[in-house]
Amino acid sequence: METMKTPTPEELQQLLEKAQRDLQAALDKMTPEERAQAEARAQKAIEEDRASMQKMLDEGAKVAASIPQRSGPKFCPNCGAPAGGGKFCTNCGNPLR
Ligand SMILES: [Zn+2]
Repeated sequence: METMKTPTPEELQQLLEKAQRDLQAALDKMTPEERAQAEARAQKAIEEDRASMQKMLDEGAKVAASIPQRSGPKFCPNCGAPAGGGKFCTNCGNPLR
């Protein structure tokens, strides 16, 4: 069974920092010329990543906001029976908001 897991901004930040550390390790093994080229490419990729991460976060917030909130009491305020999701209590007929 698949569980839906949205990465938190902190987790995204950690992923980004790890990618930057990995990149730094790779850069240390390069010649200055290779390094300058790679840095330019990496900088561009990081900027694109940030933009797409922000988009992802925005989408996540939209999805979270679109989930309908369960309304109404869970228990009948009159008799305390489980409300069961209907408009009226199944036990005493008290209207449930
Ligand atoms: Zn009731």
